[in-house]
Amino acid sequence: MILAHKIALDPNNAQATHFARAAGTARFAYNWALDEWQRQYAAHKEDPSRPKPSQMALRRQLNAIKRDQYPWMLEVTKNAPQMAIIQLGQAFQNFFAGRARYPQRRKKGVHDRFTLTNDQFSVEGSRIRIPNLGLVRMRESLRFTGKIMSATVSRVADRWFVSLTVEARDPPARPAENQGAVGVDLGLSALATLSTGEVVTGPKPHTALLGRLRRLSRSLSRKRKGSNNRNKARARLARLHARIGNIRGDALHKLTSDLARRFHTVGIEDLNVRGMMANRHLARSIADMSFFEFRRQLEYKATWRGGEVVVAGRWFASSKTCSHCGYKLEALPLSTRCWACPACGQGHDRDVNAAINLRDYAVSSTVSACGGEGAGAGRKTGVKPAPMKQEISVDQVRSTVNLIVQV
Ligand SMILES: [Zn+2]
Repeated sequence: MILAHKIALDPNNAQATHFARAAGTARFAYNWALDEWQRQYAAHKEDPSRPKPSQMALRRQLNAIKRDQYPWMLEVTKNAPQMAIIQLGQAFQNFFAGRARYPQRRKKGVHDRFTLTNDQFSVEGSRIRIPNLGLVRMRESLRFTGKIMSATVSRVADRWFVSLTVEARDPPARPAENQGAVGVDLGLSALATLSTGEVVTGPKPHTALLGRLRRLSRSLSRKRKGSNNRNKARARLARLHARIGNIRGDALHKLTSDLARRFHTVGIEDLNVRGMMANRHLARSIADMSFFEFRRQLEYKATWRGGEVVVAGRWFASSKTCSHCGYKLEALPLSTRCWACPACGQGHDRDVNAAINLRDYAVSSTVSACGGEGAGAGRKTGVKPAPMKQEISVDQVRSTVNLIVQV
């Protein structure tokens, strides 16, 4: 399993300058390759005998000309331009596969970064050695053991970080406690509601720091362009954004660690974030809570502990279905927090009901996916599907077998 550990760096001035230059070289190479890609693709369309662009050809092409045309590229690691073009190739792959939008040009000051392959650096305790740069101090040592694959040095606000990817042989965590299955409803008012009835409120960093954010942005816009004061204000704003990101990231890690630690099977919903973001009222709280990141973390942490995450399709009516009898409402406005089932009379909290439906969906999915028994070593969940719940989702289970994430 490939794990990444992001560690803050303490570069001296010369090292920080070198980082900035290497990140600038990577950005230049990325944008150069993107322009070339578009040019060569247009040429290929006009005359199909000309080759389609590829990251490999572009790397060779840049190597052939950089000594003459861009001699300053030689001052930093050769990995900086090379890896940037490989990343452009990946960006195009993601685009062609429908996973991402068309690659955009990199902008100065936006996620400045460059990547090193493992022959271009070594980790020595809590320091990283980079050729031509010497040892750079890391704030902590690498937490995972295994083969180190690559290092990406990046700037967040005014600080530098290194993200080390490691191919770890053993999962670093113990198996999940046997608390069975849980459903998690990610919400707007709370960070998450569990089928156990627990409500995780989360820090809502934006709401708390919004005033300061607004004040700082206003103060930035008043400063003259290019002035020192403007640069300072911009740095302050960037630090605040980084802080908000840290608060949010911390809450999310705590939630996903807690779920993976306690429960073997976790049922969640595949939320159509793009569709929801289009609704402006929902956009901020959803951005605050980063659903994609939630799912990503939960999946890898569950894998560490031998658990599994079951993702219900986005048309799974988790909120509108009565978790007691299976009756499905026609509609349930977002503003309705509590409702009573017209069929069986059961009263429901909207979020808890949704979480229970997700839990039951997860349980019935795992049982039907592995034949109900003989699930193999290490999977003694002791969870049984509630029969009436299975009726609700039997069609959905059948049509979503490919959506089930089996880890
Ligand atoms: Zn009911």
